[in-house]
Amino acid sequence: SLALMDFDPELSQALQNEERRQEDHVELIASENYASPLVMAVQNSVFTNKYAEGYPGKRYYSGCDNVDVAERLAIERVKALFDCDYANVQPHAGAQANAAVFLALTNPGDTVMGMNLAQGGHLTHGNPSNFSGRHYKIVPYGLDPETGLIDYDEMERIALETRPKMLIGGFSAYSRHKDWARMRTIADKVGAVFWVDMAHVAGLVAAGEYPDPLPHAHVVTSTTHKTLRGPRGGIILAKGQDEDFYKKLNSAVFPGIQGGPLMHVIAAKAIAFKEALRPEFKTYQHQVVTNARAMAATLQQRGYKIVSGGTDNHLMLIDLSAKPYTGKDADAALSDAYITTNKNSVPNDPRSPFVTSGVRIGTPAVTTRGFGVAECEQLAGWVCDVLDALETGGSTLTTVRDRVRELVVGLCQRHPVYR
Ligand code: PLP
Repeated sequence: SLALMDFDPELSQALQNEERRQEDHVELIASENYASPLVMAVQNSVFTNKYAEGYPGKRYYSGCDNVDVAERLAIERVKALFDCDYANVQPHAGAQANAAVFLALTNPGDTVMGMNLAQGGHLTHGNPSNFSGRHYKIVPYGLDPETGLIDYDEMERIALETRPKMLIGGFSAYSRHKDWARMRTIADKVGAVFWVDMAHVAGLVAAGEYPDPLPHAHVVTSTTHKTLRGPRGGIILAKGQDEDFYKKLNSAVFPGIQGGPLMHVIAAKAIAFKEALRPEFKTYQHQVVTNARAMAATLQQRGYKIVSGGTDNHLMLIDLSAKPYTGKDADAALSDAYITTNKNSVPNDPRSPFVTSGVRIGTPAVTTRGFGVAECEQLAGWVCDVLDALETGGSTLTTVRDRVRELVVGLCQRHPVYR
């Protein structure tokens, strides 16, 4: 706006540039999406001014009648969306939802089993640099190096040997279904709590496009801004547990790890959950999966290796370990062509997590802006063009990059995000 431009030209310019970038670049980062104008409008509201420590009806400050309405709507809607009987919508983000689960259900020093970060897990599932890895004894599970699939027999063997207090399901980079029932059986065998972090696939789960962890897990966490397409935030859900268990989770969020909830974000979550309850959301999620399959098939036809041989969800990993260039190089070359992806480790990656031998791509954002199978096949072809040229090097790369960038901008302008 004019006022912003006057008051703060530097920030105003950055914002304008970001608006341009989001319109003109193809977004293939699997954890990103575009929130709706309504979600953004409500997030940008006077709810941001209100302190509301506590929960609806039991606040530490007065004046909370209206924010109570917002939080109750968010809770009721997300419970309906995932057919569950407990929801906490206050976690500021996914990492906070996960920290609350650790605080509620384990003690520092406990043994906890989570998916290896290098093989698809998340930082909060026990990485040494994260609170989870620093305060708990983490035993990782991972993939069968031959198939790229989770090795459940090995998971069970490690669990029986190490007897973790908690088993974590969920991932940031795994393209297949996870066998929640099998994981619950393993957890039960050693008396562990089974927690699923469904952040990446929450939207697919809500739409019936991915196996629902809620019937199997003691507790489920998620972000609200990935496939779920809401504002940036976190949630905790559960089903069939007792009131004591739910109380523990609530007190872990507040006063355990957070102070005042972000009421403007909670109000925006209520909007996003209402959007997700509509039939169009199911159609969207189905298209996300269809588009991912189409991209994986095109990449494979062009000779690129996909970890595990394909995808059953919204993402895939291109395995570049046999290539002369790294995941970091691929990420940079694609970015120069206005295709945004992220470098990602592949199973048994010989390179460091800062360099890697893979690229992760996902379809939630491009599907929101209206790409179908035809556009996704075309796009996957351009990804291959850039990677082929990266292998050839020299002036070919510059020529191909310039051509692809022009095609990308053209396609993006035919599918505006907000304009
Ligand atoms: N859990 C999983 C599986 C994730 O992939 C992520 C983010 O990428 C998170 C949690 C953390 O969410 P946030 O970035 O909102 O803290």
